[in-house]
Amino acid sequence: MGTRCKVTSNLDVYHKHPDGGNGIDNAEVLCQECHKLTFERQPSYGVRRKNPDPFDQETKDEALKNAGNQCEFEYQIKMNVTIPPFSFPV
Ligand SMILES: [Zn+2]
Repeated sequence: MGTRCKVTSNLDVYHKHPDGGNGIDNAEVLCQECHKLTFERQPSYGVRRKNPDPFDQETKDEALKNAGNQCEFEYQIKMNVTIPPFSFPV
């Protein structure tokens, strides 16, 4: 089971998959720390030459609303997995 991040500030809307398009289905609300973490997990994402087109404001607003203005990242805390090297609210 995951533990959802509780951060509600400095949120931004990111693409779940770089090639997944700009629909609401591909939008994910993340705080800056969690966004960094997803970069570490998907190193190829960060070195892409071409960034996906930004979401339009309407999609961003909808994604934030769906997320309840809270970071959507879920920490998967399992045995043998190191907890991320930054502190997050518990
Ligand atoms: Zn977060």
